[in-house]
Amino acid sequence: MDDVWDLVIVGGGPAGSAAALRAKQLRPHARVLLLDRADFPRDKACGDGIAAHGRDELALLGVPDLVADYRPTRRLSVLSPGGVLVCATVARPNHVVPRTVFDARLVDAARARGVEVRRHRVRSLAAHGGHVVVDGTVTARAVVAADGANSTVRRLLGVPATTGRHTAIAVRGYADVPADDDVQFIAMQKEGWPAYVWSFPIGDGSANVGFGMLLPRLHATGLPGREVLHGRLAELLPGRPTRDLRAHHLPLSPGRPVPGAGRVMLAGDAASLINPLTGEGIYYALVSGRLAGEAAVQAPGDPLAAYRRGLRKALGRHLRTTDVLARAAQSPGFIDAAIDTAARRKEVFDLLVDVGLGAGTVPLPLACAVIRRWLLNGVRGG
Ligand SMILES: Cc1cc2nc3c(=O)[nH]c(=O)nc-3n(C[C@H](O)[C@H](O)[C@H](O)COP(=O)(O)OP(=O)(O)OC[C@H]3O[C@@H](n4cnc5c(N)ncnc54)[C@H](O)[C@@H]3O)c2cc1C
Repeated sequence: MDDVWDLVIVGGGPAGSAAALRAKQLRPHARVLLLDRADFPRDKACGDGIAAHGRDELALLGVPDLVADYRPTRRLSVLSPGGVLVCATVARPNHVVPRTVFDARLVDAARARGVEVRRHRVRSLAAHGGHVVVDGTVTARAVVAADGANSTVRRLLGVPATTGRHTAIAVRGYADVPADDDVQFIAMQKEGWPAYVWSFPIGDGSANVGFGMLLPRLHATGLPGREVLHGRLAELLPGRPTRDLRAHHLPLSPGRPVPGAGRVMLAGDAASLINPLTGEGIYYALVSGRLAGEAAVQAPGDPLAAYRRGLRKALGRHLRTTDVLARAAQSPGFIDAAIDTAARRKEVFDLLVDVGLGAGTVPLPLACAVIRRWLLNGVRGG
């Protein structure tokens, strides 16, 4: 049997690597073990979009230049379900970095900081006094479950999975685009709403393209999922043959569970931390992973309590905001009004980017402006 580890992390995506990096940053001598069922580099179905907010997190974790060799993308174009278009320069650039690259770099950074990385699929978990025993052989003072949307650890804890109502599904692929295409494009769809198609150019003559929708809307079509997702993507981005198609579901934050039990903390997708308005999850994964790693080494007596406090402080108001907005967004007219307001006022555009890609909240005057426009649009539309 191994000696006792200060922290064992299950999953080496952005949440797991952030936990590992933070724990070693704060306690260089802490014994930290990162387990992943895959070897890195490995692919992950994702839009590969990393917002400026995610890069702030990378800086906090001590890896500010992790994606600096990728082209910054400054233009964002969003088409609302009713056809209102806003195209503007974002306050701070986004990056598009294939997850095969991004995740492997994060794991390498953790390894370089002294984290032990092992290929291992976790299957069981048991609490013994002040410790957690993983698969009968690995003993930890604290565990971070960062094992993604289908989290095995969450299931082992008996924490229910996010219901279908709060789950989306999306397919992504790669397509050739002109090398100078530097606009991130999102087109929301009235048919099957909430649903949208995206094209995120990487800067090397290719773009990550994809289509996503809510799971109940997919089921309502009565058609095989693959047929719907692949078919809509081909129909909405015609003339762009797409390779490496890969789909996955996204547990959205309005259905988030309790963030752990005992000495186990759930982070990233395992905690259903995905923005219900945009499908953004990398930023949340980095924040929650960082906070979990921090709690494990700074509050070894009761890491989960410290983690919950940290999460509440960092994301509490924001998550309550997106809970409400996700309900309002069930009506495409609300989103039309929000995009319409953003097209007229740059500060509103910037605020919406913060809400969709970071930890932004909506000030009351902005909420009133959007509701006023929603009502006006409704009156005009008869
Ligand atoms: C199609 C699609 C497009 C998306 N686009 C974007 C986007 O553009 N921008 C954005 O911010 N977010 C996007 N997201 C969401 C984003 O991909 C996730 O929120 C993010 O990957 C969460 O990171 P994570 O570390 O929590 O989990 P993951 O990245 O899923 O990592 C989990 C890790 O756990 C490992 N693992 C799983 N089970 C076990 C086990 N039993 N034992 C050991 N290891 C295990 C896996 O191998 C994996 O490496 C998208 C999601 C999808 C599906």
